[in-house]
Amino acid sequence: MDKTHTSNEWSIRSLIPENHPRRQSLIIREKIVDALLDGYLAPQGLIAHGRGECFDYLIGEKTQDFAIKAMKAAIATMLLARHPVISVNGNMAALVPEEIVKLAEVLNAKIEVNLFYRTKQREIKIAEILKKYGAKKVLGVGEDASATIPELFSERRRVSPEGIYIADVVLLALEDGDRTEALVKMGKKVIAIDLNPLSRTAQKANITIVDNIVRAFPKMIEIAYELKNANKEDLEKIVREYDNKKILAESIKFISEYLNQLSLSL
Ligand code: ATP
Ligand code: MG
Repeated sequence: MDKTHTSNEWSIRSLIPENHPRRQSLIIREKIVDALLDGYLAPQGLIAHGRGECFDYLIGEKTQDFAIKAMKAAIATMLLARHPVISVNGNMAALVPEEIVKLAEVLNAKIEVNLFYRTKQREIKIAEILKKYGAKKVLGVGEDASATIPELFSERRRVSPEGIYIADVVLLALEDGDRTEALVKMGKKVIAIDLNPLSRTAQKANITIVDNIVRAFPKMIEIAYELKNANKEDLEKIVREYDNKKILAESIKFISEYLNQLSLSL
């Protein structure tokens, strides 16, 4: 959404020089602030974004090999799933709305709004954005979020009985650790996109993609097209050979070696 947010009196969008070395990162920040002012991102989403930026520096702000391997396993898992669901929150709707809709279409997955800080207004706005980008159906809005995830309290446990509640595979990003753990305990396969390999979500998920959603979603769409016509046995082999502990270890080792290299180059 590139509309001008007149409500954003702090906007520096038009002031960022074309050749600014961190132009892309600044534009992404503007999108996050716009989402807050548009009323569909909770203020806590700003803090989460800042944590993400920090971890993105540590992986060189690039999609690394460990993320590609996790993405392949994630796509194969979703193609084999009976009931795959993409869970969407405010940060995701602000940064990759079009890509969420596209990926859901290629994978034949459902889309569900699933907010940590749930309000009906935010749910409706996020569904509107996704529909603007072509989503035909968006679950988890208002009364639709009538099923509950055991072990979680208050509004945080509400999900759609047609979506996450009956899903066998859930793709989520910037998700809270407790909720990820609760979904895993319900027997679902959880695929998490999370820049912090040390977060509880990253550690508890079945497949962890340590990458930025702005790079991961387009790459996953590409992989989904590549694997869409693969046979079942080949997809099962990708899933069978995948080891999330190994991938998490690889990502942590990468960060440690990358920092070591940087320290030597000074
Ligand atoms: P947890 O609850 O899993 O222990 P947390 O409380 O730090 O971790 P949450 O606020 O629940 O995390 O979720 C935000 C997570 O998303 C953080 O780990 C953050 O690094 C990550 N994150 C932030 N922005 C992005 C992004 N653009 N792409 C991918 N991950 C991101
Ligand atoms: Mg958390």
